[in-house]
Amino acid sequence: MLTIGMLGGMSWESSAEYYRLVNELVRERLGGLHSARCLLASVDFAEVERLQVAGEWGAAGRLLAERAAGLQAGGADLLLLCTNTMHEVAGAVQAAVGIPLLHIVDTTAAAVRAAGLHRVGLLATAFTMERDSYRERMAGHGVEVLVPGPEQRELVHRVIYDELCLGVVDDGSRARYREVIADLVAAGAQGVVLGCTEIELLIGPGDSPVPVFPSTRLHVEAAVERALAAEPAAEPAAEPAAEPAAEPAAPAR
Ligand code: GLU
Repeated sequence: MLTIGMLGGMSWESSAEYYRLVNELVRERLGGLHSARCLLASVDFAEVERLQVAGEWGAAGRLLAERAAGLQAGGADLLLLCTNTMHEVAGAVQAAVGIPLLHIVDTTAAAVRAAGLHRVGLLATAFTMERDSYRERMAGHGVEVLVPGPEQRELVHRVIYDELCLGVVDDGSRARYREVIADLVAAGAQGVVLGCTEIELLIGPGDSPVPVFPSTRLHVEAAVERALAAEPAAEPAAEPAAEPAAEPAAPAR
């Protein structure tokens, strides 16, 4: 099994999901007490968010590149950057290490294409919805991305930073996200990408009339697939052990 390096803390609410999922999926695949070989580096999200707002993507890239190198030095064989937004600096992170970075847009797009779809709505931070890089990389996979209008983008973004990244999962916000999803579907979306790693804490398949693509789960599935590529599947359950033989009676004194 390869060791999966996870660069998280953005936010730790979703990194906790990464840690849970990576272990659950390895146990599903290998059975018994098997769990994932993994490392987690977790940054202070307040520092990263300050750099995002200031538009200092170069500085953010250097910060994350340094932490990624630490994961490689610690023994990681492959790397997950546990946030969609910070894939804006995926190139700088990949350049700092000699291990493969599994790009979250690639793992999400692969699932969309495997479902036979080519046009999806995107729920994500404003950075992801409004900058070109996400849309362009999806287009490279033959997937067209639709984003909500400005007011709905502001709502989606605010719920991520003011609620989900702080551990708040609110029914009212779920209802508003469902309205955004309905509008994206009316505009032609065949599926909805949960393109922010916290959104699947709020939204599931039951909240959408079309398939949802949860970027965190899909990212972890791809990593586990890669990590276990050479592993045999779980052994069938062993026969119950025979009753132990009765202890010989203590010799009479
Ligand atoms: N985890 C989020 C994402 O997937 C947002 C937090 C961040 O800006 O990194 O984009």
